[in-house]
Amino acid sequence: MAIQRTFSIIKPDATKRNLTGAIIAKFEAAGLRVVAQKRIQLTLAQAQTFYGVHSERPFFGELCEFMISEPIVVQVLEGEDAISKNREVMGATNPAEAAEGTIRKEFALSIGENSVHGSDAPETAAEEIAFFFSGLELVG
Ligand code: ADP
Ligand code: MG
Repeated sequence: MAIQRTFSIIKPDATKRNLTGAIIAKFEAAGLRVVAQKRIQLTLAQAQTFYGVHSERPFFGELCEFMISEPIVVQVLEGEDAISKNREVMGATNPAEAAEGTIRKEFALSIGENSVHGSDAPETAAEEIAFFFSGLELVG
């Protein structure tokens, strides 16, 4: 497998509980390197655009309100097979179904407030990185 980059968000439930470092430690232990990172607070319009693929889902309103409720940390993670490796370290969307040792198993509060976002494919990774980071913020 090749070296890839993926996009990650440490969500409001986790930044609020001061878990940023604990979550980054999980990425690093799995061989993922933080190559870009910033702490921001989304506007409602930005959250709705980012999660546009879910706009017809019943939880869309709740999800967008949650994502703007506190600052988030957006990141680019790099490593061998980074997209699927990150999804593995994150664990299942619903923490009740997440495997032992995963971020969501250890830290998520619920299926909605589940501590992290991670891109699900190379196309979405490229789109999501470009949505949050400019070329100048991405060192080679
Ligand atoms: P993932 O983040 O694991 O890729 P999805 O893309 O399916 O999961 O959903 C995006 C986000 O929407 C989830 O991480 C979670 O915050 C929220 N979400 C998903 N399903 C539900 C649900 N049934 N109820 C409330 N929020 C949900
Ligand atoms: Mg998803």
